[in-house]
Amino acid sequence: MGRSYGDVCLNPGGVLWSTTGLDHLISFDRVTGVMRCEAGVLLRDLQALALQSGWMLPVSPGTQMVTVGGAIANDVHGKNHHAQGSFGNHVLGLTLVRTDGTLIECGPRHEPLWFAATVGGLGLTGIIVQASLQLRKVVGPWLDTESMPYRGLESFLELADGSERGWEYTVSWIDCLSGQRPRGIFMRGNHAPSSHSAPPARLLCSMPITPPVSLVNQLSLRAFNELYFRVNSWTAGFAQVHYLPFFYPLDNLQNWNRMYGRRGFYQYQCAIPRAAGLHAMRDILAIIRRAGQGSFLAVFKTFGDRRPVGMLSFPMPGLTLALDFPNRGQRTHQLFAELDAVVAAAQGRLYMAKDARMPRELFERGYPRVDEFRAFVDPGMSSAMSRRLLNQ
Ligand SMILES: Cc1cc2nc3c(=O)[nH]c(=O)nc-3n(C[C@H](O)[C@H](O)[C@H](O)COP(=O)(O)OP(=O)(O)OC[C@H]3O[C@@H](n4cnc5c(N)ncnc54)[C@H](O)[C@@H]3O)c2cc1C
Repeated sequence: MGRSYGDVCLNPGGVLWSTTGLDHLISFDRVTGVMRCEAGVLLRDLQALALQSGWMLPVSPGTQMVTVGGAIANDVHGKNHHAQGSFGNHVLGLTLVRTDGTLIECGPRHEPLWFAATVGGLGLTGIIVQASLQLRKVVGPWLDTESMPYRGLESFLELADGSERGWEYTVSWIDCLSGQRPRGIFMRGNHAPSSHSAPPARLLCSMPITPPVSLVNQLSLRAFNELYFRVNSWTAGFAQVHYLPFFYPLDNLQNWNRMYGRRGFYQYQCAIPRAAGLHAMRDILAIIRRAGQGSFLAVFKTFGDRRPVGMLSFPMPGLTLALDFPNRGQRTHQLFAELDAVVAAAQGRLYMAKDARMPRELFERGYPRVDEFRAFVDPGMSSAMSRRLLNQ
């Protein structure tokens, strides 16, 4: 679906294989919750069908408009990493086709190294044509949620840690320009034990044009953050929310990326190990604040201890921050270089699904299994990212 933010799904000057035609559901066991499907099936469609029998995806990223193959190849995570790990933790097996025609069946127990290379393998080990997924049981599509304002990173961490046992989903919005004790809105949720009957009406909006310059600037950012914080502080508290707005808030605003104007934007998502967590995050936010850049789409959350299966999977126990930056050319790259230095010193890593520019050295430091991974790369596969970071 090309929903990755960077060049992992691009191949300028080469062939780009679209897999959205591989859109068949193959089997679904309503008793065990095991779904087998082709890799181009959208999470949206899979989930809508499974929900009719009380099953859902155990892990879902912030948009449902992605394919099963894309979710596996980036080993995506959701708001419940501390409870469920990442997408690959729930893949029971997959079928890979190599460009020489070889077919490889692999899973956590069968050909586990091929599996570990392919989950989070950025599409470089071959084409995933089918996958079997273990879904999780739910009563219905509703969640019991609570939201609350916070100030300061310590408060965020207290809320996140304190919610780990009792709440499956935790996430926060953070105001990246709000001073040394940044403010934010913390949200948590659990699947509701009872179900409403009708889903809420969805208001689909679309950004109709691409303005010549970014609508996100210091002025609009400060105004939006002020408004967002105030409104969400007033409305804080308990609510029952349908899974669509809770998991996928941006899916309601189509073409939202156009608001960054013709030069577009970058997303910067880093993971910082627990030990360096707060200290490094403080430095990162201070650098962003000084630069006066960033956007209101800023997500701050924790990752739990569950080990991802992929050799190049992104999550690590600790903290993760994801933030969009309008592309201001050299100024933005200079800012990224400063952020990279903090991430490297903290022994963190950047998320490849969101990257279009990280230096190779930072990639190699952040992903120590990269040499092991190279042995599984299909020589017929490449991308802009693989040439940039893996020389392959
Ligand atoms: C609004 C928004 C919110 C997001 N929130 C999150 C989030 O919360 N957590 C998170 O982890 N990510 C998030 N993402 C990123 C997104 O989930 C990933 O980039 C996802 O991998 C995109 O899937 P896709 O189908 O569009 O794949 P693409 O972007 O088209 O491709 C991604 C990679 O998968 C490979 N690939 C795709 N299909 C196959 C296949 N059949 N076989 C082999 N390789 C394949 C491609 O080669 C490429 O390397 C978000 C993205 C958006 C736009």
